[in-house]
Amino acid sequence: MRIVKEIYMTDQEVKQVYNSARWQQVRDRILIRDRHECQDCIQRLRTAAEKEERLFGEDAKIRRATQVHHIKELKENPELAFDEENLISLCTQCHNIRHGRQPKRFVKKKEPVTEEKW
Ligand SMILES: [Zn+2]
Ligand SMILES: [Zn+2]
Repeated sequence: MRIVKEIYMTDQEVKQVYNSARWQQVRDRILIRDRHECQDCIQRLRTAAEKEERLFGEDAKIRRATQVHHIKELKENPELAFDEENLISLCTQCHNIRHGRQPKRFVKKKEPVTEEKW
């Protein structure tokens, strides 16, 4: 039984894609296609509207998309690297969520240890 997905690309190769002129072009095209609007923010607003839920603060608006995400992960689907169907414009926050990363601003800082002075 195989549960581990095969990885087709090395980190170095992934880097090469992101550094390529072709990627820059495709990335720009996707951002224009999506009108620089985060597609997950649009979806969040739509879902909330359907459920008649209220969103607050940052979550109530469509944030500007600054990143382009591979829906099917690039590493495992190198043939879809430049496939526009596989690409989606996202804001930083939504992109982090897609990758299961914690947004930096939610990371709790450790309490500084205060030295006692006599
Ligand atoms: Zn977003
Ligand atoms: Zn991504």
